[in-house]
Amino acid sequence: MSNLAQETKSLLFALGVSADKLATSGIEVTSPIDGSIIAHVAEQGAADTNAAVNKAHEAFKKWRTIPAPARGELVRLLGEELRAHKEALGKLVTIECGKIYSEGLGEVQEMIDICDFAVGQSRQLYGKTIASERPGHRMMETWHPMGVCGVISAFNFPVAVWSWNTCLALICGDSVVWKPSEKTPLTALACEAILQKALERFGDAPEGLHELVIGGPEAGQALVDNPKAAIISATGSTRMGAAVGPRVASRFGRSILELGGNNAMVVAPSADLDMAVRAICFSAVGTAGQRCTSLRRVIAHDSIADELVASLKKAYATLPVGSPLEDGTLVGPLIDEQSFDTMQTSLKQAAEEGGSVFGGGRASVDGKDGGFYPTPAIVEMPAQSDVVRTETFAPILYILRYSDLDQALELHNEVPQGLSSCIFTLNMREAETFMSAAGSDCGICNVNIGPSGAEIGGAFGGEKETGGGRESGSDAWKGYMRRATNTVNYSAELPLAQGVKFDI
Ligand code: NAD
Repeated sequence: MSNLAQETKSLLFALGVSADKLATSGIEVTSPIDGSIIAHVAEQGAADTNAAVNKAHEAFKKWRTIPAPARGELVRLLGEELRAHKEALGKLVTIECGKIYSEGLGEVQEMIDICDFAVGQSRQLYGKTIASERPGHRMMETWHPMGVCGVISAFNFPVAVWSWNTCLALICGDSVVWKPSEKTPLTALACEAILQKALERFGDAPEGLHELVIGGPEAGQALVDNPKAAIISATGSTRMGAAVGPRVASRFGRSILELGGNNAMVVAPSADLDMAVRAICFSAVGTAGQRCTSLRRVIAHDSIADELVASLKKAYATLPVGSPLEDGTLVGPLIDEQSFDTMQTSLKQAAEEGGSVFGGGRASVDGKDGGFYPTPAIVEMPAQSDVVRTETFAPILYILRYSDLDQALELHNEVPQGLSSCIFTLNMREAETFMSAAGSDCGICNVNIGPSGAEIGGAFGGEKETGGGRESGSDAWKGYMRRATNTVNYSAELPLAQGVKFDI
């Protein structure tokens, strides 16, 4: 057993995962750090998924009757358990998905933040009262639990996406069936064990309130097709969303789709270039370019483009690439070899489409030959060609140029995805135009901040091929509940709306 496998095992046990959750065959879990096998986990299929949905549906019938602030108590306890296990879970995230340790810890902090948010929200599931046109009548809306919430998640935020969905679903009175990425089942087992500790302290939550199904797309599909899964919240590629969205719609289920992005930064003539360079580096190479909000396109004004590109190349040349467990590393490995090959294919295509490529090879990291460490790439493009319009989940940054803001906005919006966006400018007119109805068409639109690293307080998600879903903060909780409009007649008459007469 490799050192990494040993460390993984101790972390799992420290987090409360019992030995019987691990297997000797089934899904082979490898660490992107060195490509070594760190564990095996039994694979579940469609029948297991359907059994899990049935259990969760029974649990829902009881959970929905528990007052929302009492449901919030479970999430408060989960937040406490996450605080107690932050370091171990953060490290496991790093080992299993390869993000640097500081980002692994950040991901767990995001879970803690959404717990706090959801606890407060559990006392604020407000409806409106509405003026009735009829005398002696009152109208109001109430929000009710929906049912089982199926959560399908991606490898790159293996635990945070689960918590965004689960914390809100639980306070809203829904039960949860989670199908994590088959590339990151260990962090899922750890989350389940941590939630179990909170459930034990909570006491009387119904069995089956949270079910974990470890498997691939087949298990995911069974969840998608099960009519008892009232909500499907699916995070992943646009390819996955294109398969999932229509299937959920065909049974009139509700879906929350969080899919790929192709996020851009407009750098205007007045931009603080030093800040822009720092923001670009974090957004484009952080998590080795494997965030849905990673910066993929810089649209730079002609007057500053040369200076910006020169500064970026200088910064890129010194970026520390290495093991994500080591202090000082800023660029860790890609998830696997296939991901590295996809990066190479995109760079080749970019060159064929007229791009000039800087970086983009495979870095060699001592003792980590089995890991696929990329050298982040900058590609100056003559136009927004096909490859630029495609999300490649790797650290490739395309540079495009513009001469006036209308042209920048046209380039900005002329991609199929619509997740995150930003402008660096000190010109108030440009900033406001970028955020206006005629500006960026994305779900996230920032000024003088990069496109990645969102806070949980805002609603998270995007438009077009990004899927239109919203999760996390603001009023995203409404996606996990159903709305009922109630009209109460406290008069002795029975007037009809719109003045209709129907006397018998
Ligand atoms: P992926 O689409 O390969 O897999 C995501 C999940 O979907 C996995 O759990 C997988 O098993 C499941 N799945 C795949 N096909 C399915 C099907 N037909 N039916 C049901 N389930 C199915 O994505 P990935 O490689 O794990 O993650 C990277 C992608 O996720 C990128 O495109 C990234 O932009 C996107 N992402 C989006 C967000 C967001 O909030 N918008 C967040 C994280 C990642």
